[in-house]
Amino acid sequence: MTIEMKAKDVIEKNLPILTRRVTACPIPPFLKVILVGKNPSSLAYVGHKKKMCDKVGAKCEIVELPESVGEGDFLKNVEQINNDPQVTGFLIQMPLPSQLSHLDVYSLVKPTKDVDGFHIDNFKELYDSNVTEKTLLPCTPKGVIKLLDHYQVELEGKDVVIIGRSHIVGKPLFHLMNNRNATVTLCHSKTKELKEKCQRADIIVAAIGKPQFVDSTFVSPTKKQIFVDVGISRLENGRLVGDIDFESVMKKNPEAITPVPGGVGPMTVYSLIENLLSATEKQVK
Ligand code: NAD
Repeated sequence: MTIEMKAKDVIEKNLPILTRRVTACPIPPFLKVILVGKNPSSLAYVGHKKKMCDKVGAKCEIVELPESVGEGDFLKNVEQINNDPQVTGFLIQMPLPSQLSHLDVYSLVKPTKDVDGFHIDNFKELYDSNVTEKTLLPCTPKGVIKLLDHYQVELEGKDVVIIGRSHIVGKPLFHLMNNRNATVTLCHSKTKELKEKCQRADIIVAAIGKPQFVDSTFVSPTKKQIFVDVGISRLENGRLVGDIDFESVMKKNPEAITPVPGGVGPMTVYSLIENLLSATEKQVK
């Protein structure tokens, strides 16, 4: 029977551990989020982050700036948060409006407070294979690894195909899995024979942003495979789906698969809290 790898199981098991870590922190973990404008998806994501902070007893404040905010005011807010000793974690919710899109946002957040794990100093630890429990890793790839670990999916020696090579998902996940001694093929829009590559893989991760792109024709006819769906898209009928056509792939009885919603998405928020605690503990030292 196919195992559905659900974030709920991981979070229920680990939430008490995170709550204890919050209580044990010598200074209170405090996340500040800059949210520019009222993009509905951004509002929802920020809401999830605040809710998870509330659940573990960490402080979270959303700094809401108008869609029309100028560069000067935006940067002033960033500087204030970077320099506030009470704030231990900081992120800027993407996307930003066009007048700010030229900014190198990932380098603006102080690396020690960078709970998104996007600053080059934090990436460097990952690229140098110098990852520790306290490394501030990008939240989605970190969440994927945590989910696979929970379901005891061994990575060493496995052939993994990741579809999508973005800075926030595909590339960092390539390094995390490579560090675990998987043999990873990082695929993208110009990759040839993508279906064949997926059919040969043990684990397939889809992070493309194309709803239900991976269907049963990507599945091996002989091998029991594991499918991880990072994608989140809303269909015209309002239904949330991933990059994997869940029903179609399920017909081939894979070994395991993540659902959308309820798979990788909540793991991203969970990892953010782990990063907040690591950032707080690092700052105390
Ligand atoms: P992106 O647009 O930055 O990158 C997409 C990648 O997919 C690119 O590398 C591109 O080459 C590749 N691609 C596009 N079309 C392809 C094709 N036909 N064949 C092979 N590769 C193709 O996307 P992203 O920011 O990495 O996001 C990907 C998806 O994951 C989106 O649906 C996004 O909403 C979702 N996402 C989810 C979470 C989460 O918490 N679950 C977090 C981040 C992103």
